[in-house]
Amino acid sequence: MSTPDGDAAATDGFGLPGVPDAFDRLWNPHRMAYINAGPDQVKDEHTCPFCAAPHRTDEESLIVHRGRTAFVILNLFPYNPGHLLICPYRHVPMYTDITAEETAEMAELAQTAMLALEGASRPKGFNLGMNQGVAGGAGIAAHLHQHVVPRWTGDGNFLPIIAHTKNMSQTLGQTRDLLVAAWPAAAAELTARRRRDAGAEPDDAPDAPDAPGDATPAAAPQGDVR
Ligand SMILES: [Zn+2]
Repeated sequence: MSTPDGDAAATDGFGLPGVPDAFDRLWNPHRMAYINAGPDQVKDEHTCPFCAAPHRTDEESLIVHRGRTAFVILNLFPYNPGHLLICPYRHVPMYTDITAEETAEMAELAQTAMLALEGASRPKGFNLGMNQGVAGGAGIAAHLHQHVVPRWTGDGNFLPIIAHTKNMSQTLGQTRDLLVAAWPAAAAELTARRRRDAGAEPDDAPDAPDAPGDATPAAAPQGDVR
């Protein structure tokens, strides 16, 4: 309703005059499509984005790495640039539902993801976690996924806390390219650490030649749809 005095004559619900308050506001109504759909949008395997993702190309799905039983994908709703999710291929909801092999590979992929992020963007810390069930805060509770969130000092500024808004300095495609490039070195580093831990490669002989083919991480089965 227009008035002769315009906004200056507007009042709020308490009848107070329309004096601007101290807050700036960032309007992002496009988020309502996601918020309104809510956690119930995933009914089964056929409506599950984590089941659908491996059936598309890595670029389309923003997949960083495909393992044997689990894969690594960028979160479409990142808390920080490089926010990754480790997902088993199987549509199971709980951490207690996965096999020993899946458990071991998800742990290995989370460690490799941390090393790849360190190589790509030098974070100062990480958050690793799994939200279990809708009550536990899982956005897609039906399909297990582990978050790997890189952190930098001061990244928790007022925007995400007050405005539920994150400032992103890269597109998701750019972030994926960086992490794909960093992944082989991260996988090789993890393999080297494992071998040192097992005593196969003593720390006092760092220049010892590797066994043929030993240091080369297995190639990702690109296009291997499960
Ligand atoms: Zn699924």
